[in-house]
Amino acid sequence: MSELLSYEEAASRFDPVLGLEVHVELGTATKMFDAAPNEFGDAPNTLVTPVSLGLPGSLPVLNEKALEYAIRIGLALNCEIAETCRFARKNYFYPDLTKAFQTSQSDEPIAYDGYLDVELEDGTVFRVEIERAHMEEDAGKNTHIGGADGRIQGADYSLVDYNRAGVPLVEIVTRPIEGAGERAPEVAAAYVQTLRDIFRALGVSEARMERGNVRADVNLSLRTSPDAPLGTRTETKNVNSFRSIERAVRYEMRRQGAILASGGSVTQETRHWHEDDGTTSSGREKSDAEDYRYFPEPDLVPVAPDRAWVEEIRASLPELPTQRRRRLKDEWGFSDMEMRDVVNADALTPIEQTVAAGASAEAARKWWMGELSRVAKDRSCSLTDLPVTATQVAQLQGLVDDGTLTDKLARQALAGVLDGEGDPADVVEKRGLKVVSDDGALTAAVDDAIAANPDIVEKIRGGKVQAAGALVGAVMKATRGQADAARVREIIMERV
Ligand code: MN
Repeated sequence: MSELLSYEEAASRFDPVLGLEVHVELGTATKMFDAAPNEFGDAPNTLVTPVSLGLPGSLPVLNEKALEYAIRIGLALNCEIAETCRFARKNYFYPDLTKAFQTSQSDEPIAYDGYLDVELEDGTVFRVEIERAHMEEDAGKNTHIGGADGRIQGADYSLVDYNRAGVPLVEIVTRPIEGAGERAPEVAAAYVQTLRDIFRALGVSEARMERGNVRADVNLSLRTSPDAPLGTRTETKNVNSFRSIERAVRYEMRRQGAILASGGSVTQETRHWHEDDGTTSSGREKSDAEDYRYFPEPDLVPVAPDRAWVEEIRASLPELPTQRRRRLKDEWGFSDMEMRDVVNADALTPIEQTVAAGASAEAARKWWMGELSRVAKDRSCSLTDLPVTATQVAQLQGLVDDGTLTDKLARQALAGVLDGEGDPADVVEKRGLKVVSDDGALTAAVDDAIAANPDIVEKIRGGKVQAAGALVGAVMKATRGQADAARVREIIMERV
């Protein structure tokens, strides 16, 4: 099946239903069930203990911090937190899983029955129902050498690194996401992005997509109408950027749409995502849950988190990113579009800090979204990497507000700050940037301009008052932009 429907045709003829399974690696100091360090990037097989290797006789012990983080996530996703829950063995063989089972949770997850409100680009809020969030351990990492595309097919040999084996994970599973229609690709990506932002705000994970801290499996099925029963789904595994999630959903809608439109039926299977050409390809036929022969893990006691502790965690939850954005938007009076640009530029925190340091929200936005964004782009760095503090930006605006600097002089002062010349007031002093409003100096400059431009003076005397602009310009040039332009104009009219 190589034909694809156009996206428009797929979206108009079929109703997509999404399901997302997101794994997040928790940023604990040690692994889920043993004392091996939970770190990224170390030499292979150096962060292991008998437990992470699943050696006979080794026994797991639950990491309390991992449990706390799982509860934080559950609470932030508006879930119920289980009074008691258990771990289970999910049996399957793979070289990166030495025990031949993954310690996970099946019918008794730590958190269940929640929801997440996802705000789309245009401000529409889409509610995603959360079925469950459960704890499990990560597997090791296989590297297949010699085949195309890093896949096992055609490889000469494979290497296994167990450093990741036993890293704590929380897996968040949605209920079927219906009603997204043609916006399904956008909803899927926005959902995962919202989760990523929440993980960071909660402090439970660095949530770096490029390191695989957050990995999404994207389930999709199509049906002929919203009233029809669910169609057969595919699960595209490990799609690890927001953009790829959007593309993978679009591709599967077009591919499945073509199969269904030609009278065929979709095979229930896992699929691989190909970043290079934006396609998916067949993986394995999807196992049903019963194939894993889940059974209760006998080496771990049931987990019954103390209710007072759960409430303590609930009370300590930070303001979540969506709420924070809404609050700041109201406080600052920004338009939807201004706010969207600010968020996309990662300027929310710098602006918040600049406002806290005394600037108006509008002035703070103007600096960070204007001159500072331009400089950051020139230097290929992020706004927060620029060598200027929010306090300095607020001081700079203060100098504009009290008339010491014009906007143009303020930009020169900012350049000095960015070049390490000190606070704005120091740069103004060193570079001599103050606005000249001393009448003596200005009158002298005006007289020079009048003497040098007799023709313009004639025009003004003849009634062409707007010609005075040229004289103002000459004075500004002579004073290197430091003259108080309004005062200059007054003096010109007096002298002429
Ligand atoms: Mn899982």
